[in-house]
Amino acid sequence: MRYPDFPVLITQPMMPLIQQGIESRFPSARLSEQEDRAGFLAREGARFKGVVTGQGAASDDALFAALPNLRIVSSFGVGYDLVDARAAKARGIVVTNTPDVLTDEVADLAMGLLISTVRRLPQADQHVRKGLWLKGNFPLSDTLRGKTMGILGLGRIGKAIARRAEAFGLKLVYHGRAQQADVHYPFYASLVEMAKASDILMIIAPGGPSTRRIVDRAVIEALGPEGTLINVARGTLVDEPVMVEMLQSGALGAAGLDVFEDEPKVPEALFALENVVLLPHVGSASVHTRNRMGQLVVDNVIALAEGRPPLTPVPETPWSA
Ligand code: NDP
Repeated sequence: MRYPDFPVLITQPMMPLIQQGIESRFPSARLSEQEDRAGFLAREGARFKGVVTGQGAASDDALFAALPNLRIVSSFGVGYDLVDARAAKARGIVVTNTPDVLTDEVADLAMGLLISTVRRLPQADQHVRKGLWLKGNFPLSDTLRGKTMGILGLGRIGKAIARRAEAFGLKLVYHGRAQQADVHYPFYASLVEMAKASDILMIIAPGGPSTRRIVDRAVIEALGPEGTLINVARGTLVDEPVMVEMLQSGALGAAGLDVFEDEPKVPEALFALENVVLLPHVGSASVHTRNRMGQLVVDNVIALAEGRPPLTPVPETPWSA
């Protein structure tokens, strides 16, 4: 089916499933391919009813102002820290993201990264590849046995990580803005106190201003030289320069990082460290899960174009017809 009355602006290059899913159904334009974006928006902004976006482009109030008939921002990914959802709400625009379809994939990755960091799997792989095994055994590693993991952000993904971690025999505690009535893990109102009680800090809360650098020097000190920090959330949650310095000095034991503050730029000081495992933001990056996320981006726009409620509006922009 085609929707000639619902033009859609694609703000950044998207995966083919989204690009084709939108361009085959809706009149559309690619903002990132316009040489004069401001001129294009001034000329044509009023015709767009939908925006499709992701982590590569900010959707802020200035963009919304240039699109006076905008009705939906369909964002790829569960994190939508680059979309100003409050500004969207003020203008009556609904914002959608792609929750749930990626939860298990990201939780699997988080556990893989945790085990890789604690048991040093990439380093052990290098030991074999470089022929070092012929000269001696790989050094003994740290362990998950008897360890406590503190989860910062016990939401959809945090809970899926917790279920897996229970099966691995880890003790679990958590921190968030509020204690959750139906959760039996001990709650810490203070992130520093939770870090003190934890051997592993698993970071999986949203990015954005409210969580910016909440994992600061005090939290990392509380985790300590025997501690392991795993970040699968956003780089912005951690004071990255402080973390790098503390990994270098041994004040923080180890880190497994899927996300960084200024991706794809990663602090080069990390490349030389033996106590880190670095991944290029691949939490949800399987073909299966990325296809499900992409389809949800398209389906949310189709729902609005057909006059139905969006499938997955974010909490800041609850749907009201
Ligand atoms: P949810 O909204 O289900 O969970 C978020 C959790 O974070 C909630 O438990 C919430 O608890 C807590 N939280 C929110 N704000 C704060 C705060 N200011 N301080 C402390 N805790 C807070 O989200 P998901 O589990 O679906 O996703 C979590 C995040 O994971 C995403 O926002 C995204 O950034 C990241 N992510 C990363 C991926 C990757 O590829 N590495 C892939 C997918 C997601 P409470 O409300 O009680 O504070």
